[in-house]
Amino acid sequence: MLDLKKDFPIFHTHPDLVYLDSAATSLKPQLAIDKLLEYYTDYTANIHRGIYKNAEKATEEYEETRKVVAKFINANRAEEIVFTRGTTEGINLVASTIGLDSIERGDEVVVSRMEHHSNFVPWQQLAFQSGADFKIIDLNDKYELAVTNYESGKLKIDLTGVITKKTKILALVLVSNTLGTINPLKEIIAEAKKINPNIITVVDAAQAVPHMKVDVQLLGCDFLAFSGHKILGPTGIGVLWGKYDLLNKMSPYQYGGDMIRQVKIEETTFNDVPHKFEAGTPHIAGVIALKESVKYIQNIGLDTIRKHEQDLTKYALQVLSSEFGNEIKCFGPTNIAHRGGIVTFSFKDLHPHDIAQILDEDNIAVRAGHHCTMPLHDLLGVPATTRASFYIYNNEKDIDKLIAGLKKAVDILNPKH
Ligand code: PMP
Repeated sequence: MLDLKKDFPIFHTHPDLVYLDSAATSLKPQLAIDKLLEYYTDYTANIHRGIYKNAEKATEEYEETRKVVAKFINANRAEEIVFTRGTTEGINLVASTIGLDSIERGDEVVVSRMEHHSNFVPWQQLAFQSGADFKIIDLNDKYELAVTNYESGKLKIDLTGVITKKTKILALVLVSNTLGTINPLKEIIAEAKKINPNIITVVDAAQAVPHMKVDVQLLGCDFLAFSGHKILGPTGIGVLWGKYDLLNKMSPYQYGGDMIRQVKIEETTFNDVPHKFEAGTPHIAGVIALKESVKYIQNIGLDTIRKHEQDLTKYALQVLSSEFGNEIKCFGPTNIAHRGGIVTFSFKDLHPHDIAQILDEDNIAVRAGHHCTMPLHDLLGVPATTRASFYIYNNEKDIDKLIAGLKKAVDILNPKH
């Protein structure tokens, strides 16, 4: 078991905190906080402009993060990394540039029912605006994409009728933030590209990049987005990776400073990729600090992190089932190899918000609600669920405390129990 609470100062201020909401945002290690402060105390300056020492230092630190992130996800080149505000902005950027430019009436846009609203609504709205067909990949009874089948022990993908020559966009989540399902996107993307080599594939990797090895070249996608704040970094910073050739020919997302080459009254020419997509002063401190978070994760090792979370998930599912039996319903794949460190559940007749409130009395932080996946909750048949999500600083004791808290909640909320 990893033992890393000491690296996270929030546990010094709140030693009793049982933080089980890392799918919403992760805690921050001291070294990332220090790096953030370093920029503000030692070399505050704008980037890509000044020719004085602090401006050069800030630019260097900022651009160094691009290289670190590129290596982290195995991008071909650092220029393929665009800094955004988060996953949401990354996806919106793609939808409103190459998405809007390439889609026509009668085309198809495909997403799945388990998408977070940020990988659902931008595509839905794009389809509605352009007169394209908005198609949904539904789920099977294992809480996995209906186009996948593992029954013979070997993964089979069937995209018949889902992806056609008219499908312009396929946007899918790598790890579901509600079910924890890990989708076999490498295989799905390869299959989709066989049917339509021109399809644009977009991966929402918000819940994947912090928790497992993600290799953009191996995935074979065209775009991939994730958020800094879920990967031990500051809020308000994210990453969009895109294939260089695509980024290069895309129109800009926002106009303003830093994204231009030359501005004349008659005409404006745009800067090179990735600066073309980073208009205005970015979250410089956030980008600089993100590098420390990524390095910290690399030092621990993503295989170690994945194993740690798998062990915790397995333990949580076991104890939830043995303690609460038929009273509880846990959503998500039963095969532990197909899921990340997210356990979402509901108790018959108990409201998730009441449960979360009672857990909070014992400093146990979980998420209650629809987790920005309303179309998925329509299928689950409940308006809201309770979600516990794990990361490197959690241990089995946290899960034991969750179980104790849930027993208390059941006693208070369900007097018949
Ligand atoms: N996609 C998934 C799968 C997520 O879990 C989240 C965050 N909950 C997002 C997208 C959106 O991320 P952000 O709010 O950081 O833009």
